[in-house]
Amino acid sequence: MRKIKKLLVANRGEISLRVMRTAKEMGISTVAVYSEADRNSPHVAFADEAVLLGPAPSSQSYLRADKIIETALKMGVDAIHPGYGFLSENADFAKKVTEAGIIFVGPSPESIEVMGSKLAAKQAVARYGIPMVPGTEDAISDIPAAKHKAFEIGYPILIKASAGGGGKGMRIVNQEEEFEEQMLRAISEAQSAFGDGAVFIEKYITSPRHIEIQVLGDQHGNVVYLFERECSVQRRHQKVIEEAPSAVVSPKMRMAMGEAAVQVAKACDYYGAGTVEFIVDEKLDFYFLEMNTRLQVEHPVTEMITGKDLVKEQILIAEGYPLSFSQNDLKISGHSIEVRVYAEDPKNNFLPDIGRLRTYVRPQGPGIRVDDGFEEGMDIPIYYDPMIAKLIVHDENREKAIQRMIRAIDEYQITGIETTLDFCRFVLGHEAFTSGDFDTKFVEKYFRPDLLKVHWSDSEKELLAGLAVEIFEQSKSKLVRVGATESNSSPRTNWKNRLI
Ligand code: ADP
Ligand code: ADP
Ligand code: MG
Repeated sequence: MRKIKKLLVANRGEISLRVMRTAKEMGISTVAVYSEADRNSPHVAFADEAVLLGPAPSSQSYLRADKIIETALKMGVDAIHPGYGFLSENADFAKKVTEAGIIFVGPSPESIEVMGSKLAAKQAVARYGIPMVPGTEDAISDIPAAKHKAFEIGYPILIKASAGGGGKGMRIVNQEEEFEEQMLRAISEAQSAFGDGAVFIEKYITSPRHIEIQVLGDQHGNVVYLFERECSVQRRHQKVIEEAPSAVVSPKMRMAMGEAAVQVAKACDYYGAGTVEFIVDEKLDFYFLEMNTRLQVEHPVTEMITGKDLVKEQILIAEGYPLSFSQNDLKISGHSIEVRVYAEDPKNNFLPDIGRLRTYVRPQGPGIRVDDGFEEGMDIPIYYDPMIAKLIVHDENREKAIQRMIRAIDEYQITGIETTLDFCRFVLGHEAFTSGDFDTKFVEKYFRPDLLKVHWSDSEKELLAGLAVEIFEQSKSKLVRVGATESNSSPRTNWKNRLI
């Protein structure tokens, strides 16, 4: 056992704060790193010490592995937590950290390496009888051979970058005529985006659900699963709403998926927290997609239903402790939902909408957790992922959790930027979501921007009524000129943008 006394978090925003909070509870002192754009961020203020890495672009700050390790050594830290994104799935970084005599809070560089390549991952787990989406076992390069294989699998097919991630590097091919062109594009995109042109083919599941299993493994060979997370509500192959447990997973299916996930972890001698992603078809057959060798954005829903602090477990595992519980000790309690609050405009194809957070008031009350990294008045930088917060609720069952989430969204006040909150409220009220009968096509199937109607909360209605009276009074005294009401009310126009 090697006790961690000082931890550097090589990340920013909500996840950096989230990790440091647990560290503090464990009596571990914290070091934040930051870029010039994040000088005034809450994660910097929260840490015991903070070090500037460099200019705003990630390549000059959060991705500077050498600078981060150098900083860690200078500050005398004994461990680095990478969060998610940035260097979290970089095997070379994990290796260099370890070589510098610092604990990497995560799996071994070897596990990261195997699972970082979707193809290597499939090859590693193939021997364990884990169900996989029909497709090629190796990277494809020969066009006629690949075409033949695609024909055998049957269209539509998906061309995927082996090194892909974050929903990027995927191309759907509906018919043979498009194959060659799409394959060449996929290769060149994979090369430029991930520095690795290896692509492979998978059958495109037309009505898929994305369901993943959280695993925890220690350095003594014990691996357990902490049940599933349903992540089917996505835009651009990226999750926006996640929940645990899934509305369609039975105890029997849960156990089968959980055991498969444990096998996947064991196939690469995994330790730490990890997520095994599966795609589930209409018949509820599940297939292995990939493994994410890090803490996941949506990990809080698992924490809410299991009562386990996943960051604390990560730290204890990194210190060398065996897991303090076994599979049988784990139980699901109630239901949890997370919505990701992105600075994006759902009415404009979910394009990033960055700017200043003019109003920022978090929801409160029973069963609510907000993981965020901003305060009112701050600017959302353009350099990074536009996720500003995660709103998480917990209640006895799915129905109550949905009601609680709707209440929380209505209470959340954000002005100055457009966010995904209205969109999430729309989803939560939709019959397809409440019935549990939905897949990753939810947005395409059911969402249209004009469905985000203006919705007034009680306080807004009061404000409106007051305004109407005022206008009436003004018009009576003939003070109103054309255009004057418009400019008078403009500072308040933000409340019109809020909510459905
Ligand atoms: P999760 O699977 O935890 O929901 P995402 O797939 O949304 O997470 O990715 C988590 C974070 O990591 C996001 O900030 C995303 O942009 C980033 N990310 C994931 N994979 C890559 C990659 N290969 N290249 C760049 N960024 C990535
Ligand atoms: P990433 O590394 O970008 O997270 P994944 O392989 O996990 O890549 O896929 C991301 C998403 O793309 C999935 O959640 C799912 O919505 C969709 N997807 C992936 N593979 C398939 C497939 N074979 N058929 C249909 N949809 C898929
Ligand atoms: Mg994935």
